[in-house]
Amino acid sequence: MEKGYKLPRFGADGEPGKETGNAMLRMINDFNADDDSDGIPASGPPSGGGTEDPARPLPQPKIIVPRESNSELNKFYGTARANPPEGYLSWFNFPVGDMKLFSRSGTDLKDYDGDGNDEHRCHSRIVESLEAALQDVYTTIGKDEFYRQGWHVYAGCWNYRAKRGGSSLSVHSWGCAVDINPAQNNWKQYSTSFSEDAFDAMERHGFLSAYRAWGHDAMHFQKCTFAYVKSNSHYGRNGYPSWIVEA
Ligand SMILES: [Zn+2]
Repeated sequence: MEKGYKLPRFGADGEPGKETGNAMLRMINDFNADDDSDGIPASGPPSGGGTEDPARPLPQPKIIVPRESNSELNKFYGTARANPPEGYLSWFNFPVGDMKLFSRSGTDLKDYDGDGNDEHRCHSRIVESLEAALQDVYTTIGKDEFYRQGWHVYAGCWNYRAKRGGSSLSVHSWGCAVDINPAQNNWKQYSTSFSEDAFDAMERHGFLSAYRAWGHDAMHFQKCTFAYVKSNSHYGRNGYPSWIVEA
């Protein structure tokens, strides 16, 4: 069953797909090149910068993310505001042209091409990695699974607001968190429509999963560590991925 389907709207150079993601990984690698203390396997002679052993997998580049606290997030991303300054936020694109967009109240937005709605803008510092992460999910699980798991149902990113049931700010206030497919992955659901390899793909670009931190609210991914991790959760048992390190 083939859906009518646009080409990925990806990259100013019009070059879609994995190459963009790989280029992004190289950029991240370069960006974090001063912090590779445990990225290289200890076995074998040190590399003199010459030939690479093709049998040895490249280490995952380190990704620096802030800790989830108002002060650390303000320091890393700039102060969260209801009306952030010019350049704080950027529009981001999706790996599929017909991605459905919903507001937090469930209203179908449809018009996501710059009409002033804020729900599909993110912090400018994460726009490339967010696009690369969604593209990586798409490439990893394939088009059919992407739709079946509901990755095309976008439910918000930047949103200046208080945390659920609290007075401190939600990480959405900095535009460094994204919600996907809330109908099957909401706060009350201790199950998820997303596959493990899809979570892994998000993590390759620094996006940590609320499901892996708490065992519910699987719609939510954030590019900062969690203020709270349940001890019996995925991260509680295994820790964060080794390449995601706190600033
Ligand atoms: Zn969220």
